Amino acid sequence: MTAADFNALAQILPPERIVTTPERLETLSRDFYWYSPVLKRELSDKLAEAVVQPATRAEVTALAAFAHQRRIPLTLRGAGTGNYGQCIPTRGGIVMDLAALDTIHSISTDGVATCDPAARLGAIERVARQTGWELRCYPSTYVKASVAGFCAGGSGGIGSIEWGALRENGTVHSLTVMSLEAQPREFRLTGQDIFQVLHAWGTNGIIVEVQLRLAPRTDWAQVAVAFDKFSAAFDFTEAIARNDSFRKRLATVFEWPIPGSFTPLQKWVPEGEALCFFEVSDMQMQRLVDAARHAGGEPCFTAPFSEPRRGTQLSDYTWNHTTLWALRQDPSLTYLQCGFSPTEARSQYRALKARFGSDFLLHFEFVRSGGVVTPGAIPVVRYTDDVRLQAMIDACGSLGVSVANPHVNYLEASGRWRPDDAKRQAKERYDPRGLLNPGKMRDFIPDIGNAATSASDRRLAADPRSVAGDAILSARTLPTPA
Ligand SMILES: Cc1cc2nc3c(=O)[nH]c(=O)nc-3n(C[C@H](O)[C@H](O)[C@H](O)COP(=O)(O)OP(=O)(O)OC[C@H]3O[C@@H](n4cnc5c(N)ncnc54)[C@H](O)[C@@H]3O)c2cc1C
Repeated sequence: MTAADFNALAQILPPERIVTTPERLETLSRDFYWYSPVLKRELSDKLAEAVVQPATRAEVTALAAFAHQRRIPLTLRGAGTGNYGQCIPTRGGIVMDLAALDTIHSISTDGVATCDPAARLGAIERVARQTGWELRCYPSTYVKASVAGFCAGGSGGIGSIEWGALRENGTVHSLTVMSLEAQPREFRLTGQDIFQVLHAWGTNGIIVEVQLRLAPRTDWAQVAVAFDKFSAAFDFTEAIARNDSFRKRLATVFEWPIPGSFTPLQKWVPEGEALCFFEVSDMQMQRLVDAARHAGGEPCFTAPFSEPRRGTQLSDYTWNHTTLWALRQDPSLTYLQCGFSPTEARSQYRALKARFGSDFLLHFEFVRSGGVVTPGAIPVVRYTDDVRLQAMIDACGSLGVSVANPHVNYLEASGRWRPDDAKRQAKERYDPRGLLNPGKMRDFIPDIGNAATSASDRRLAADPRSVAGDAILSARTLPTPA
């Protein structure tokens, strides 16, 4: 960015909302990309030249027009809890930190929440519960994570055992996106059109409003059960996950030694045992405890419903928080995101254990995918080098286990790219100059307004790496948890 760019920026925002100090630039250019040793190597030096902090929709519009006019890359940031470097500005330019736009406008009587982009999921859950509703699904980072960040970067979480992934069952009711044009416009997307921007990493429009469909409120109890064998823990978790007579929000199972890294829980985590975590309707807590004992398990933690939530929250150890706890204990660990077969999961996980042993630690999150209860998995794996990591991914593929690769930093290879091309076409419409989060959607060839004529010339001029290709890992496209 030139001095003239900074002068023009100063006409839009007051100086205290234009961040240029090196430490803050670094903090606000980063997310949890360091979960992946591959991304850590690739992205550690990527920084914004300025971070802008709009407080109103009018300021967002002015900043969008500014970036378009001056052809400055613009990367959007909610809370920065993503873990694939999704909001890291790989081409410099501006990061737009939307944190101040966090109003929850309304919860309708039929359970639709209408929110500003950076409304926190934890706040939406709290407000919704006051009127008899709750989030259908949310990531384990819900206390900090923003609703637009979840729509643009996340995929599901607690609640997905009942309601499926965020993309399913009309949970995202509408997304209003702003284009990056000389005069930015807003488009309200509903129905199938939401897939144009859902999970597009902020590459093809600025989400300025989200409407989420909610679920009727339930009072949830928490239960943890220990088993001396992983196979018994898996069987029990699967049985409860498939049993529709239990209302549930969470059905998780971990192989030992993963639970050994849950430091605050050590007073009741039995050494050496596999562990299952559940959230079930408070009225069914005792029934679950009895079922666990009957199956040979030892209920080692129970917490009846309480509001506000107090003390241990099992969900703080599930989904991608599991990886965080394990990594804190052993930095040589990393993770994969897998979809096991609803019918062949046992033979699949046994084959992976036989090949990789303690370098492939099992962590399953049961989810409903297309209506079918499915063992999603976020295994904690040991990283030695890229070749062995790729061997693990290939081994999964050869066994029919899908992998949404968390060690790549562009959409097409991340495992959730839909072949319908809707996202790329939306980018042509809403971001014709290719300025939003550049480098993350590589199929798109921007209008760069110069003499390059062939498609590959234009692609190379816009993004040299997209033609050169990446040495990083490949992935297959099937539903898996985040
Ligand atoms: C410990 C841990 C646990 C996690 N658990 C889960 C989980 O259970 N489930 C899950 O799905 N994810 C999980 N994640 C990933 C992440 O926390 C969630 O996806 C979260 O919802 C991201 O929200 P955010 O506000 O932090 O988004 P950010 O990280 O700020 O952004 C994510 C993406 O959205 C884009 N974006 C942000 N705001 C906008 C906007 N207004 N318009 C368009 N694009 C925008 C960004 O450019 C970026 O590409 C986890 C991550 C960590 C570190």
